[in-house]
Amino acid sequence: MILLAALLACQDDGTPRSSDATGSAGRVLIIGLDGARAEALELADTPHLDTLRASGAADMNAITGDVSLSGPGWASMLSGVWCDKHGVVDNDVSWAQSRFDQYPHFIHYAKQQRPGLRAVSVSHWAAINDEIVCADEAAGQCSGADRVVNAQSDAAVRDVVVEELSAENPGIIFAQFDDIDHAGHGDAETMAAGGFCPYASGDIAEGEHSGACTALNYNPAYLAAITTTDGYIGDILRALRARPAFDEEDWLIMVAPDHGGAGVVFNQHGFPADQDRRTFLILHGAGAESFPADVRSKSVDIAATALFHLAVTVPDAAALDGQVIGLQGAPSYVDREIPSCYDPGVFAPDSGR
Ligand SMILES: [Zn+2]
Repeated sequence: MILLAALLACQDDGTPRSSDATGSAGRVLIIGLDGARAEALELADTPHLDTLRASGAADMNAITGDVSLSGPGWASMLSGVWCDKHGVVDNDVSWAQSRFDQYPHFIHYAKQQRPGLRAVSVSHWAAINDEIVCADEAAGQCSGADRVVNAQSDAAVRDVVVEELSAENPGIIFAQFDDIDHAGHGDAETMAAGGFCPYASGDIAEGEHSGACTALNYNPAYLAAITTTDGYIGDILRALRARPAFDEEDWLIMVAPDHGGAGVVFNQHGFPADQDRRTFLILHGAGAESFPADVRSKSVDIAATALFHLAVTVPDAAALDGQVIGLQGAPSYVDREIPSCYDPGVFAPDSGR
């Protein structure tokens, strides 16, 4: 009787506690780290990410599409399809030709099948919400998300997520931090040259530097930005674990960047060079298992993996390019080719904003 009362109490507020009509208790927290290179995580002081990795699963050799810019990066991650389908190939012009009506943000599918699941998107880079989550803004829908916040700083992103976890009952949270990318690009005002070069000192042998990084452009500010963001992640994890029903909520935490950097130019990215395209994916939660050997997880796998954990199916099974990866019970992974959208005639790298 007490159990029944508890269940009814949960239904009253319209949000699932342990499971809903889909029979799933799954919830996802996606933490996006703009421009964080996999190599940088190994060198920066990141106690909270280290904890997630140690008790979860990580692919530190993941890969994006061949235009390694934020626009196509986040678009592929959140829609689960590559640029040849969603149409985004830069950070500005191509939004106008995007096809999120056909290939929507994964929140769209989740809200169709689990309407009671509260979905929140918090982004420091406004384009993610303005152009992807709310691509259907004419209808006022924003992919069905319950709350969409363009935050003015990374600290404000942290504040919104902590508030959600403390005061609301979210089932999907996407949070994007932008300051790591800013540090990589440097700052024209302060004349900081930047560099996606994760070296804390200049004593690394020249041969150990990768891509366009040399001992002359190591960038302690890039590592410091990663450590600051790790602190925000720590605040978020504390708020998550403090939830009264945390043990029953089956959260999958995913951490990933949208691109790498310094593959061709030390403080830029966007090129089809491997170091610009190399990213990582950290999974943490009861369902996180291990990544298959000898394949690289891909940006588009993140939407597919989130939906699998949420027990949400995409109506047309072939609609997603992404596949479930790193989770218990995932179908076997097929290492498919990534379509190319790189056109040297129109391409412009991200040299900072
Ligand atoms: Zn950038």
